Amino acid sequence: MTYNFYIIFIKHIGKVGVFVPREDKIKFITKCVHVGNEIDKETGAIRRPITMANSYRLPEDASTLNWSDPNNLVYTRNTSANQTYLQQRLAALEGGEDCVVLASGVAALSSVFFTFLNKNSHVICSNVSYIAVYRLLNEYLPEKYGIEATLVDSANIDEIKKAIRPNTKLIHIETPGNPTTRISDIEEISKIAKEIGALLSVDSTFASPFLQHPLELGADLVVHSLTKYINGHGDAMGGAVIGNRELIDKIKREAMVNVGGAISPFNAWLIMRGVVTLPLRMKQHSDSALKIAEFLEFHPSVKFVAYPGLKSHPQHEIAKKQMTMFSGVISFGLKADVETHNKFVNSLKIVISAVSIGHDESLIVYTGPTDERNHFYPEEFKDGHLRFSVGLEDPEDIINDLKQAFDSCGLS
Ligand SMILES: *Cc1c(COP(=O)(O)O)cnc(C)c1O
Repeated sequence: MTYNFYIIFIKHIGKVGVFVPREDKIKFITKCVHVGNEIDKETGAIRRPITMANSYRLPEDASTLNWSDPNNLVYTRNTSANQTYLQQRLAALEGGEDCVVLASGVAALSSVFFTFLNKNSHVICSNVSYIAVYRLLNEYLPEKYGIEATLVDSANIDEIKKAIRPNTKLIHIETPGNPTTRISDIEEISKIAKEIGALLSVDSTFASPFLQHPLELGADLVVHSLTKYINGHGDAMGGAVIGNRELIDKIKREAMVNVGGAISPFNAWLIMRGVVTLPLRMKQHSDSALKIAEFLEFHPSVKFVAYPGLKSHPQHEIAKKQMTMFSGVISFGLKADVETHNKFVNSLKIVISAVSIGHDESLIVYTGPTDERNHFYPEEFKDGHLRFSVGLEDPEDIINDLKQAFDSCGLS
């Protein structure tokens, strides 16, 4: 029985061959479906399998093998089958030559810092950025390794210019920024980086590759937490860096193999599946978030709403220039005390109080006024704020959920 099946599939493969679309000839949403996938040569399955193996068979003469080579299938910390398929897909989506995928967004960010910053080099970074970036650049890298860091409001080009030093090697920005949704002008900042011979890396997690292409705007490296929109289903963590072959190869050799944040092949496979629907999801997230942001903006108990798609957003014009839609994260605050903010979050029935963004379900996080980064936030954030990741539910259901939570808190 098994034997017969085997014979049949060999014939099948012979007729069908392997479908490899020409990447330069297909559009973004087609790339999401096809790039990195092929018909499995062994079984004829039309999608590649999950290869949960730590090791790969060595060549007959392994005597000269470089054990730290990130490009040979030897050991899963050097590279793995599913990791390479996902890298192919993400490089195509960002329009970069190569990509490295790692175990988390933070592994991807630290791979950039550990590879391109040396003792005594200087980095300029958005002062509103992911908490681990703040921790690394504000504490660990300066204190342990002598790296100098200046944190600036990267929406303000003059602040970036003023921060430049002769040893500035890297400018790192996050746009839209977490949690303020602050927008930094990628094109303008890339000009500054080029002038001074520094690299520009952009954490584009909030936008995803569907809404923004930093490499086309002059960035050298794009970083993503795959945990968020790219996987999109809240069930796997991963991170990626995309850029030219030389830069990515350096990250793979130095930080992937030797720092060790390898992604599980299973997670790489899950993320590969998640990314198929990225364009559909991003349209839905963006459409819903705009409706909800408009609802919140007109609510009398809402103190402020920060959403790049609103005209009231301080960098709305830059957002329109560099993004095609405005994604799904809204930050806002209530005209209320800490206790009422907590009550509001706990009264929600569809929206869940939990960290992370870019999931299928709507998620909300309340950060109180004691946040250590408070002094970097725009004024209106300083009494505490809600970060709301709008999910894929019907926006009317989400708005109704918000309305009943306002009612439960006695907020009209
Ligand atoms: C979540 C997040 C990260 C970190 O990613 P993990 O996968 O959680 O390690 C980095 N940058 C931004 C903007 C994020 O939202």
